[in-house]
Amino acid sequence: MKKIIICLLFIWYSTGFICLCYAQTVVYNTKTQKYHQLKCRWAAKCSANCIKIEKKEAIKRGGIPCKVCGG
Ligand SMILES: [Zn+2]
Repeated sequence: MKKIIICLLFIWYSTGFICLCYAQTVVYNTKTQKYHQLKCRWAAKCSANCIKIEKKEAIKRGGIPCKVCGG
């Protein structure tokens, strides 16, 4: 019985981790429509036109991946 609980916990834990990977947050520039990784130097420079959204949301809005960080 204990083994089953551990096994279920492991599945729950690993699926949660996969979800986190898919819900990657990027910095999206609404003016240039480019999106950056949070650590990108261009993301740090951008403030007025930039918003933090999910990567899939940035793509849905017609976002272009940054050439420096790859988006
Ligand atoms: Zn970038």
